[in-house]
Amino acid sequence: MEGVRSAEGQPEWVTLLRAPNPGPMTLDGTNTWILRAPGAEHAVVIDPGPLDEGHLARIAERGPFRSILVTHGHHDHVEGAARLSELLGGTPVLAADPRLGERLGETAGVDGIDIRVLATPGHTRDSVCFLARSGNVRAMFSGDTILGRGTAVVAYPDGDLGDYLASLDRLTAYENVVLLPGHGPIRTDCAEVARAYLAHRRERLDQVRAAVAAGATTPEAVVDVVYADIDPAVRFAAERSTRAQLDYLRRESQAGAERLDTL
Ligand SMILES: [Zn+2]
Repeated sequence: MEGVRSAEGQPEWVTLLRAPNPGPMTLDGTNTWILRAPGAEHAVVIDPGPLDEGHLARIAERGPFRSILVTHGHHDHVEGAARLSELLGGTPVLAADPRLGERLGETAGVDGIDIRVLATPGHTRDSVCFLARSGNVRAMFSGDTILGRGTAVVAYPDGDLGDYLASLDRLTAYENVVLLPGHGPIRTDCAEVARAYLAHRRERLDQVRAAVAAGATTPEAVVDVVYADIDPAVRFAAERSTRAQLDYLRRESQAGAERLDTL
């Protein structure tokens, strides 16, 4: 079946349909995940992806769905949601941001699959991860909070680095839970990738601190130093992450100054 792959570690109750929107920010394209317990009638779909009729038709063929879940409001994940709902005859779209659909609660399960919603802001304010369990197998659907390869962007000012670090820290609790990201390949251990992401973020913060100490006064100048080899196609993303880092350091030093004031 076109677009369907399965990889090592991918639970048998999960199907990947990859949207045909590859690019510098979307890697091979947006991952649309379909979760259906063995023998169950209803499934759920996570991140319908862009408004691409062919992709949405392939998803719809795999209904019926209890709900359409979205990890966050970026268009490459949610643009097709309303159209997919229409194709399915009104299946509800559930999202953390009420502008995108019905309000997502703390759980969003379907026959034979428990799904817990984890608030993981940082990439965007509305980012969530879905922790699904069927039988004794757990799987973490991470949207753009953690990608299958490379690193994610903190989409400042909607995204916030302090929130993001706290969210990554939260995800380090899921040892040996398979990670199914919004883009790129699946990873076998959510906790391990979350720890690597945290280490990377701390390293970048040190680099930004050093660039500022060496006299870089604008986000652009910091990008020139810290992301010296960046592909021009994703430089804007590095700039957004850099603004998030500068904002974080500014607040950190303000908090430090306030602590000094109270001594
Ligand atoms: Zn995103």
